[in-house]
Amino acid sequence: MEYLTKPPKFLPIGKVLVHNHVKSGLGSRGFRAWLADPDEKYEICTCGWAPHLEHYRVKPTLAKSP
Ligand SMILES: [Zn+2]
Repeated sequence: MEYLTKPPKFLPIGKVLVHNHVKSGLGSRGFRAWLADPDEKYEICTCGWAPHLEHYRVKPTLAKSP
């Protein structure tokens, strides 16, 4: 898995921008963001981290898994 250091300017075709359930921004402890294939384990996120892109986060119920 290659993590992003900042939100990308645009998304590759067929990919979605996802971050984990940790709030606040990149650089915060535990926060990770990456590009992924669309999946129902992700949900739309409106936290404002990447305001120029629609992005998703891991559903909290699944984030508790090891
Ligand atoms: Zn978000």
